[in-house]
Amino acid sequence: MGLFSMGPLAFVPSILPASALGLLAVAVPLFMAPATSPPPAASASSSPGDAGLHVVSGPATGPETGPVTGPETGPATGPETGPATGPETGPATGPETGPATAAREGDGFRILLSVDMEGVAGAVTPEQLGPGGFEYARFREFVTAETLAAIEGARAAGATSFVVADSHGNGQNLLIERFPDDVEIIRAWPRPLGMMQGIDESIDAVFFIGYHAAATNEAGVRAHTFSSANYAAVVLNGQPVSEGAFNAAVAGHFGVPVALVTGDDVTIAEMEALLGAVEGVVVKEALGFHSARTLTPGAAQARIREGARRAVERLAAGEFEPHVLGEPPVLELTFKNYRPAEVLSYLATVERAGARTIRFAAGDMVEMAMFLQVVGNFEAGLSP
Ligand SMILES: [Zn+2]
Repeated sequence: MGLFSMGPLAFVPSILPASALGLLAVAVPLFMAPATSPPPAASASSSPGDAGLHVVSGPATGPETGPVTGPETGPATGPETGPATGPETGPATGPETGPATAAREGDGFRILLSVDMEGVAGAVTPEQLGPGGFEYARFREFVTAETLAAIEGARAAGATSFVVADSHGNGQNLLIERFPDDVEIIRAWPRPLGMMQGIDESIDAVFFIGYHAAATNEAGVRAHTFSSANYAAVVLNGQPVSEGAFNAAVAGHFGVPVALVTGDDVTIAEMEALLGAVEGVVVKEALGFHSARTLTPGAAQARIREGARRAVERLAAGEFEPHVLGEPPVLELTFKNYRPAEVLSYLATVERAGARTIRFAAGDMVEMAMFLQVVGNFEAGLSP
């Protein structure tokens, strides 16, 4: 489905630049219409899937078998199940006097936490990672607790403002009532910047919580990049990337460094190799794609709290550098299947680089992030 049903695709060239400008023009982070009014291709659906973001399929659907556009949470979730994501109903359209204002009152550091789930302590299979899994409800508690621990640790070191982007699966994993009232939370898909929604020049540093290794890594629990169902490799400027590497480059576009990464040992090693200085917290040792030797949730949260405190101390000391890619960034995306590459290459801006690979050069990482959202979300049958 999805990509296969795309018509003559002239929409990307016209959509991306305008949308990117709209995003960049906005300084207020969350509750304002401009930043959240999605581009046409990304606005039509309340698809609970990972919106082209990384996700893991529910138990019923093998991780590798999902549809091209379905995040790994698969087709079982209809487009109607996520009313909160409708462009007309979400809190994002609220007045600018809401939480966004309160969150910006402090004069300390402002942190964006992008929260995934495969890298949470104890998470090893789809049983923990999606609504169909027998342990998902408990792991919503754990991912929430790890995120709260990061906020607590950061606050102890002088961070005063927090935006949390729920960036796994259906984007509705975090138990939002558990967060302090001065924290803003971004939920569900699609959204133009995907896992990095909320990034802008007002952010001082990014935390990656519960992250995992790249699709091209031989090790790492649930290693994949944005879609284990559909993408075999995501290469940026010649280097295979993880979600963390891609998202670090999006943050780098805004001059924002990554300060903290939590996940399995493979993930932390990947990010340290990429970024050099970054605070890493290992919560489990990967034994295989679906196995790990893990800390308990409580022990992991304690380490994350301490890691976040150190991260903000190091941020204050100027230890972290933004991960800035040369522009224009060039993406080489290899699908698991043949036809997505074939059809996308009809676009004048997309080059066929191989049987299952396309190449796309964007003006900057904002446009690149939005291109990936189009590729991951678009299908002619999107509704509403
Ligand atoms: Zn992910």
